[in-house]
Amino acid sequence: MAKIIAIATWDFGKAAVAKSGEILATGGTAIDAVEKGINVAELDTNIVSVGYGGMPNATGEMEFDAAIMNGRTHAVGSVATLTGYSRPISVARAVMEKCQHSMLVGDGARKFATEQGFAIEETLSEESKKKYSLWLADKNAKPEFMHDTIGLLAMDCRGELVAGCSTSGMAFKHPGRVGDSPLIGSGLYADIEAGAAAATGNGDEILKFCMSFLTVEFMRNGDSAMQACQNVIKRFVAQHPEKINEDVNLIALSADGHYGAATLRDSFAFGLWDGAQARCQSVKRI
Ligand code: ASP
Repeated sequence: MAKIIAIATWDFGKAAVAKSGEILATGGTAIDAVEKGINVAELDTNIVSVGYGGMPNATGEMEFDAAIMNGRTHAVGSVATLTGYSRPISVARAVMEKCQHSMLVGDGARKFATEQGFAIEETLSEESKKKYSLWLADKNAKPEFMHDTIGLLAMDCRGELVAGCSTSGMAFKHPGRVGDSPLIGSGLYADIEAGAAAATGNGDEILKFCMSFLTVEFMRNGDSAMQACQNVIKRFVAQHPEKINEDVNLIALSADGHYGAATLRDSFAFGLWDGAQARCQSVKRI
């Protein structure tokens, strides 16, 4: 039997992988483990950068980015600048399974979600509205939480490998801004022969290096999951030493079920479930 494991970005990833673990431990699929795990973060009102209650854009509207990828079939579903639905990962999964296309954006993504029977929901919490008002009053004031993405990678008992991610993106972003998360290869990537990876941090930097794809390619070429994450970040810094303090973070799962993570921050955390209790692990700057 394949190793069953789930890893997710940030400390809030712990509750997400706990859900994934329940699914995987009872023979469930990696695709369900990724979607339902990410749904936990999307619906958690305490997480202010993912799903309901995330961070609005510069006009006060919530625009979500999310994507999912199957490492065996290479099927993908992605939505960018989606409004009106608090579980964008579920809409991304519907794109993957029910749409002839791979990626939908804006009004088209919203129309597709409606056609698929998703009910329009309130996405702004009172807290989101409050943070937006504070920012409008003083655009130089940095709110405590500016962004963060849930990226979740899971392998099931059949050996299936799936990656997914979901975010409201950069707080107060220009309307229409698309980050790394919904871009296949940037915010996430999965290939059963090499591994899976997901990124979080400044998407405007992450997407320039297709960091998740690069992490998977490093694993294909023999790096462990940990080395692959570190080597992507090392390449980024080698080419841009002036960005040594950039917010760039990666998690990875190799094809044989080993995990890794790396960061340019002083510290980064991820949630891990590998058969027992979900736990949180921290990573120091490389
Ligand atoms: N990468 C996300 C974005 O740029 C934000 C984050 O993960 O912190 O939209």
